[in-house]
Amino acid sequence: MTARIPEEYQVKIGLEIHVALATETKMFCSCSTAFGDPPNTNVCPVCLGVPGSLPVLNRRAVELGMICGLALDCEVNPQMHFERKNYHYPDLAKGYQISQLVAPLAEGGHFTFGVSESQERTVRIRRVHLEEDAGKLLHGHRQQTLVDFNRCGVPLAEIVTEPDLHSASETRAFLEELRALLRAVGASEVRMEEGELRCDTNVNVLDQSTDGPKDGTEITELKNLNSFRGVEHALLWEIKRHVEALQRGDTLTHETRHWDEDAGVTISARAKEEAHDYRYFPEPDLPAVSLDPGWVDRLGEEMSETPRQRRRRLQQQYGVDDYTAGVLVSEDDLGDFFEEAVSSGGDPGEVANWLMSEVQGYLNAEEIALHELSVTPQQLVAMLQLVDSGKISGKMAKELWPRMAETGKDPDQLAQEMGLQQISDEEQLQGVIRQVLQEHPDAVSDYLAGKDRVVGFLMGQVMQKTQGQATPQLANEKLREALTEAKEGKGEED
Ligand code: ZN
Ligand code: MN
Repeated sequence: MTARIPEEYQVKIGLEIHVALATETKMFCSCSTAFGDPPNTNVCPVCLGVPGSLPVLNRRAVELGMICGLALDCEVNPQMHFERKNYHYPDLAKGYQISQLVAPLAEGGHFTFGVSESQERTVRIRRVHLEEDAGKLLHGHRQQTLVDFNRCGVPLAEIVTEPDLHSASETRAFLEELRALLRAVGASEVRMEEGELRCDTNVNVLDQSTDGPKDGTEITELKNLNSFRGVEHALLWEIKRHVEALQRGDTLTHETRHWDEDAGVTISARAKEEAHDYRYFPEPDLPAVSLDPGWVDRLGEEMSETPRQRRRRLQQQYGVDDYTAGVLVSEDDLGDFFEEAVSSGGDPGEVANWLMSEVQGYLNAEEIALHELSVTPQQLVAMLQLVDSGKISGKMAKELWPRMAETGKDPDQLAQEMGLQQISDEEQLQGVIRQVLQEHPDAVSDYLAGKDRVVGFLMGQVMQKTQGQATPQLANEKLREALTEAKEGKGEED
């Protein structure tokens, strides 16, 4: 599904991304943030908003929020404070969410992303603020809806971008690298399946062919998309809707819409609310927080390598190409596997090749992640060494690898079990060749009569006799030697 967009139209996409910070406990109480516990077991008067309870700010959440802001090149504000964002919904027992509006944690950053240097794009980051998550509604059968408050008060960083993205696929690429970034710097585990990254997208389309102020559609917001695929598909559909509206002279309405995954369409939900609809006011139970510049500096200095930095380092240090480096950093464990394999003696080019082809292929086919395999980087290197030393062929390695991935067994042991062994013993091969020549005297006479083509036939016989285990190059060499001898022998007879 691709939307054809007339050249004079410009798509503008801005994102509000909610990321669950990697804390043990909630933002304002000591309840656990564990996912999947029985409903309503990780709750207390604070996260349920029972009158009289008082919030206490989680220092680690602030720290992880700062790391997130710094990783996005934002300025951390010297002082931040919290506001109450008021709204009524069954997943929010308190009737308000503690968030930040006027003095957020960090502002004014940018994020450069792209699978390769030539494809890099930069998106401005408007702000990063802290807020608490709401509960979860479970829509059951018989028109009943249940509510689980375990998620109430889980610390979130909300990352707000400027509308600098211009297509659905670019937005997806941005989010994928943002996820890699947040994981690399340790701000969040970003477990998508647990809803640790949820994205609101604001989209409209401008017509740049008109004179004067640019004409365009009103912004529509798609709420709560929790998969990269969902974001991409919802945006494709929505962009098409905007383009079609412009083409018939319509500007649409400023509204919030929902993506219906099953139907593959967006559906109008309500008129888009503005900040004043939420009656934001300063949270009276939490004091303003000074963020010590020394603390900020220290976090900046201790910041882990970002995917972009790592991509460049992999290119420089190991000589892998731009594209390969991009794939290796797209998942942090892939890059780790690569570097560990190389540091245990693997050739960077060979290891990268295997990771990009056979390993990725296996993971995709099995729909599993690299860390779920019990095979180690050292075992992959050992397998590549079996190929290099001629003990197994490249083709055998491709047979061996899936079994290694499945079982985690050492490659040499497994090769023996599977009967994968290349015959590269010269005498053994010469013996086989002698036998083949004896069994096919006609082919030999043909060869002597100048029919060079029969060499292929004889090679086939050698491979068959060795059940495919002869080292092809060596077998070919020895066969030609034997045939040359036969020719010379014949010459002497004549
Ligand atoms: Zn609590
Ligand atoms: Mn929010």
